[in-house]
Amino acid sequence: MVRPGLSAEQLERYARQIVLDGFGAEAQGKLRSTNALVVGVGGLGCPVVMYLTGAGIGGLGLADDDVVERSNLQRQPLHGEGDIGIPKVESGAAWIRETNPDVEVETLYERIDVDNIEGLLDRYDLVIDCTDRIETRYLLNDACTLKDMPFVHGAVYRFEGQVTTFDPGRGGPCYRCLFPEAPPPEAIPDCATAGVLGPVPGVIGAMEAVEAIKLATDVGEPAIGRLLIFDALQLSIDELELKPNPGCPICGDSPRIASIHETTYEGSCRLPSD
Ligand SMILES: [Zn+2]
Repeated sequence: MVRPGLSAEQLERYARQIVLDGFGAEAQGKLRSTNALVVGVGGLGCPVVMYLTGAGIGGLGLADDDVVERSNLQRQPLHGEGDIGIPKVESGAAWIRETNPDVEVETLYERIDVDNIEGLLDRYDLVIDCTDRIETRYLLNDACTLKDMPFVHGAVYRFEGQVTTFDPGRGGPCYRCLFPEAPPPEAIPDCATAGVLGPVPGVIGAMEAVEAIKLATDVGEPAIGRLLIFDALQLSIDELELKPNPGCPICGDSPRIASIHETTYEGSCRLPSD
């Protein structure tokens, strides 16, 4: 029997999900009508893009201003030797089109900033943070929080990674509840300086894709108010409870940030003064 909304080819492609109790054609249809913005098409963004493409999300926006470098290939399986020198968003979009023609792709080969983020968010249902730039993370947090849009967060560092979903609209904290202001940029090492074990972003990115699918389909419990910390050396996962901070400058009781245009994101993410 062909179910409404899904072609015979789609029923075959997504059969292993549709057969799942608690998922089925209904969740598949919800996933099909979801557009997700992936910010960063590197170590975290690659598995997010690959699994959401495979799972049949309706649309993916890829935002990244980097080109593929040989040192990326150790942990970024969307990109290959032949992609070196081309924008990561182009390499990613080509992979999506070849893998699943159901998925619509938008590419943004530029840095997310205060001028383009709001227009982008108008076209998406949720955001997946796969960036290693702290300024971009604060901007995503603020723009999503002000728009009441869920924001899946992942980060990696050496042999560790963490994942959570920020959604103050559903009673959880935001990123600024944990870290009200960013440390100075020189205090934050990136992968190039700190190093990262290749599969670690794969594990964390796959968990971000799981969170995105749950948010899109209303299946399961997203990790709102919970931070999962993966330790590759011990092969362990710890869970921290995260609570909203009443003093948070954007989602607290007396917020100081009412617009992303009042805050400085380049450099140190300065808050507006009282
Ligand atoms: Zn907050």
